[in-house]
Amino acid sequence: MSARCIEKEMADVPECTVPLVVPGLTRDEREAERILTICNSCRYCEGFCAVFPAMTRRLDFVKHDIHYLANLCHNCGACLHACQYADPHEFKVNVPRTLAEVRKTTYVEYAWPSGFGRLYEKNALTVALALAGGLAGFLVLAVAMNGSLLHEPLQGDFYAIFPHNLLVAVFGIVFLFAILALGIGVARFWKTTAGTHGGRSAKSSPAALEATADVLTLTYLDGGHGEGCNESDNRFTLQRRYFHHFTFYGFLLCFAATSVATLYHYIFGWQAPYPYLSLPVILGTLGGIGLLIGPAGLFILNMKRHPDHGDASQKGMDRGFIVLLFLTSFTGLLLMAFRETQWMGLLLAVHLGVVMAFFLTMPYGKFAHGIFRSAALLKNSIEKRMPDSKGLGAD
Ligand code: SF4
Ligand code: SF4
Repeated sequence: MSARCIEKEMADVPECTVPLVVPGLTRDEREAERILTICNSCRYCEGFCAVFPAMTRRLDFVKHDIHYLANLCHNCGACLHACQYADPHEFKVNVPRTLAEVRKTTYVEYAWPSGFGRLYEKNALTVALALAGGLAGFLVLAVAMNGSLLHEPLQGDFYAIFPHNLLVAVFGIVFLFAILALGIGVARFWKTTAGTHGGRSAKSSPAALEATADVLTLTYLDGGHGEGCNESDNRFTLQRRYFHHFTFYGFLLCFAATSVATLYHYIFGWQAPYPYLSLPVILGTLGGIGLLIGPAGLFILNMKRHPDHGDASQKGMDRGFIVLLFLTSFTGLLLMAFRETQWMGLLLAVHLGVVMAFFLTMPYGKFAHGIFRSAALLKNSIEKRMPDSKGLGAD
């Protein structure tokens, strides 16, 4: 069979069907198996990221190996621009796109409840519907409870519009469901890919510390040489790493703001609204600014990204998530700025609608990539410390 036949657009031609090298693999997984086998012989890209050393610890690639390596890839693009076997070579090696296609398969396959994995496949529509539903729900609720979206200034008292216990109940249930769904999904992934590390945990081990550092610093978005990812062309840039950091730490600061406010409320009995110079407001404002800069930068990079880096069918999921993060922050900061005016009720309803859409789509959208990749990094840190049972040499 000609290597040209591996191309997706020719996959429906009978003589171009990709041979079933390893039973039980989907077409995307078979293509990944083909490419990983080529890379494992070539090994030119060994220094780029964790994927290549992890690949060389294997002689062949079964389904769970492919799922693990797909989630270990950070899609930096470096190995595509360096590859001597990329298109127009007849091997047509494209590691970032192939692993991106398999990654989506893993999100769908490990999702809980199982049928909900389909939401990944139509994620842009899922996000749009969740956003429309969230906005409509809170706008209608605001009118139903207060008679109007506009009101006399209420000194920033959100709970005069929506009672505190109502918000805790509604958001608590949705958030706990999202955490449960993500937790079960990643536990399924961990169990399935446990083969090489025997499912052992990394409690108190250097592996856990290393994986945590890799997650917190996004080690593998440096391209392996410290100069960063490829975006639209052969040039390296650290912009994606920086914008990821703005997004990630902005999110954590917003989460910290909510946690501190919860402690204030339940432990100290201090009720919102909190002054502009209080800890929850300072943390929330800084986090909100990070969540404006990060998603805006990632959106621009995504628009300019080289088309061969990724899976075009996932653009909607990527951009939907980025836009939702940006809107969460933007509406939150607007609410903070105008909380003492007659617009507070309207802005609060809009902000809560956006936050609800974010929570609803958390387990079935781009948010999951951070959770699955963290698990893959932990697995990588564990298995590289294990004895080399195949005699393939250490990292
Ligand atoms: S991506 Fe290309 S150059 Fe890099 S290891 Fe694979 S085949 Fe070799
Ligand atoms: S795209 Fe980047 S992170 Fe993914 S395998 Fe290639 S070098 Fe590694």
